[in-house]
Amino acid sequence: TTGTPMLALTDIHSYYDHIHALKGITLNAYEGEIVALIGGNGAGKTTTLRTVSGMMKPRTGTLSYLGEDVAGKPAHQTMQMGMSHVPEGRRIFAQLTVRENLEVGAYTITDKKLIEERVQEGFAYFPRLKERENQLGGTMSGGEQQMLAIARALMVNPRLLLLDEPSMGLSPLFVEAIFDIIVKLNKEHNTTVLLVEQNANMALAIAHRAYVLQTGEMKLSGKASDIAKDESVRKAYLGDE
Ligand code: ATP
Repeated sequence: TTGTPMLALTDIHSYYDHIHALKGITLNAYEGEIVALIGGNGAGKTTTLRTVSGMMKPRTGTLSYLGEDVAGKPAHQTMQMGMSHVPEGRRIFAQLTVRENLEVGAYTITDKKLIEERVQEGFAYFPRLKERENQLGGTMSGGEQQMLAIARALMVNPRLLLLDEPSMGLSPLFVEAIFDIIVKLNKEHNTTVLLVEQNANMALAIAHRAYVLQTGEMKLSGKASDIAKDESVRKAYLGDE
């Protein structure tokens, strides 16, 4: 956590009309880090990811990515710069096969050979998707759809992966599989990950650093292992009495 961060939010304020969802968020992510964003319902976790990827424009504050001011840059442009956002609730194409979903994820790539390489790489990470290459996305289980959504986001070989609640609605085995893949990706590709999770225990176990959001404000930040030990965090988010 020295040098220039890959991603830097400084005093970011974002609104939904008159709803003040982010009230001065400051957050950094350094290349190669897994950064967890935890907090209760409505804290602003999803809004933070949306603001970073350009799905939403912050009203004030600065947002820099790879040394460039990207505040309000649309999502297709941040994607060209190596960001990939897996939104809440997956959003895979139900009427397309697994393979077709992956190919859609590579729509910015014109080199057919490279696309095929990436598809195969995706299958190596997610063998279950390989078995189901020709199955329609909509007929996959929730966990399989989440895997597909992540694999699709990886088609562009992102430098920064934004993951919104990857464990949502998944059985413990799937949750573990997804978290294993996040760690593997981070280790093997040095992919920087900004991870939003309700499952704070799991997120803190794999993250290097963490930020705790509460009603649009940053309550706490630090090493994930320290955050995991914090009394107030344990009470509020880790199920301690
Ligand atoms: P959760 O864990 O419940 O998904 P979150 O931390 O991701 O919560 P956000 O979804 O970022 O929280 O919501 C932050 C605030 O913005 C909440 O008060 C929410 O009601 C509001 N909000 C989110 N999306 C919209 C929207 N499309 N229109 C209006 N308000 C919204």
